[in-house]
Amino acid sequence: MKDRIYIKDLKGNVGKEVVIAGWVDVRRDQGKMVFFDMRDVTGKVQAIAVPNRKEVMEIAGKMRPEWVLKITGIVNKRPEKNIKAGVVNGNVELEVTNIEVLSQATELPFALDAELNFDTYLDYLPLTLRTERARDIFTMQATILDAYRKSLQTQNFSEFEAPAIVGGDAEGGAAAFKVDYYYDQTAYLATSPQFYKQIMVGPFERAFTVAKIFRAEKSATTRHLSEATCLDFEMGFIENELEPMKVLENAIRDTVKIVGELHGDMFARFNTTVPEVPTEIPIFTLAEAQALIAKEFKRTIEDSNDMSPEDERQICEYAKKNLKSDFVFITRFPTKKRAFYTYEEPSETPYSRGFDLLFRGLEINSGAQRIHNYEDLVRRIIERGMNPEKFSYYLQTFKYGMPPHGGSSTGLERFTARMLELPNVKEATAFPRDMNRIDIRLSE
Ligand code: ATP
Ligand code: MG
Repeated sequence: MKDRIYIKDLKGNVGKEVVIAGWVDVRRDQGKMVFFDMRDVTGKVQAIAVPNRKEVMEIAGKMRPEWVLKITGIVNKRPEKNIKAGVVNGNVELEVTNIEVLSQATELPFALDAELNFDTYLDYLPLTLRTERARDIFTMQATILDAYRKSLQTQNFSEFEAPAIVGGDAEGGAAAFKVDYYYDQTAYLATSPQFYKQIMVGPFERAFTVAKIFRAEKSATTRHLSEATCLDFEMGFIENELEPMKVLENAIRDTVKIVGELHGDMFARFNTTVPEVPTEIPIFTLAEAQALIAKEFKRTIEDSNDMSPEDERQICEYAKKNLKSDFVFITRFPTKKRAFYTYEEPSETPYSRGFDLLFRGLEINSGAQRIHNYEDLVRRIIERGMNPEKFSYYLQTFKYGMPPHGGSSTGLERFTARMLELPNVKEATAFPRDMNRIDIRLSE
């Protein structure tokens, strides 16, 4: 828009007539004057319509929150007693000389700053995404994605695009959504880019992808979505799982450093702090972690084969308090609890070279060294009761020579949610899909 300046730049234009554009945020009438806040992507400013400007008053008199306006006005310093310290434009206001209405809004169902029940927030996302809180969350998410990507690029990974439509279910467990495909065939939405990133070790040795994954599990929790975004990498020529763990740790450290530099104010607004990443993220085997939990929290462990959500919370609480770390690695899960391609630790059968990374009480990443030997992989597929012929396409990678390799997958929504300590991963998803909702509620 010609001549438009951003609201954040008003303070450099005191005494001048300028043009801004944005949404009416709140409106306050005082006597004959109309005071209202204008909001654009950079901030808010108080605007004032005075009675001697007839045309201005005519519009100001009838406009409502969320009307979209183009405003011409004179930037004035606010009287000393009205200055709002620490607020963008807390010391300037705009005396309106002209208003052009770009779009009207009907009456809002609620004030934008109202405390909403979470389902109502989701029902009205086209409106509620306009709050500062929502913009903060997705600004944070964009920064995380960018920082993570840059870190992997710096660590010599090549990015590729994984398919979302696949012929079979990679994890052989996670429920997949079916798709009607050509020639009466059934295809699936990918539950993971796993096979494709392993295949990409062939051309690139180190490959990564930012992929959509789709999971049809009928679970309604605060950490599961039907559609999620994952940051997946895979690397060749490793000795064991410690190498992908180190790459992941570097990506986490780089990401935390950048979000800390860029979004210090956001952490304050969400009542949390920049996460602590010590020189080495603590690593516990599953057995060590559960023994610690049993001792520290004086309770019995129900399932010694896997971490329960409570185990995840408590080991993180322990690490935060005693090791000054918001992140914890858990290793040596039983092989049978992990995906079929997971490499077993030969000296510790039946335990695997798989790992999980927990962040502030929640699993945000799973990874492992993978089986690279063709015969071993075929044997494992058979052991799991699956048919190797169904995997023939993927198995070519191993038939034609594959180095020892491993990698991991981080859920972007879970990473974002824990970064800002959001109670529900759905709040860290702009348009969440779950059992009960695709934009609108399915049950009604
Ligand atoms: P969980 O056991 O918590 O259900 P998972 O072990 O099945 O997760 P993985 O297959 O290990 O998940 O996927 C790697 C990462 O992708 C997870 O650590 C998580 O961050 C993310 N992720 C997986 N499934 C979902 C989902 N349904 N919703 C949101 N994020 C997910
Ligand atoms: Mg996992």
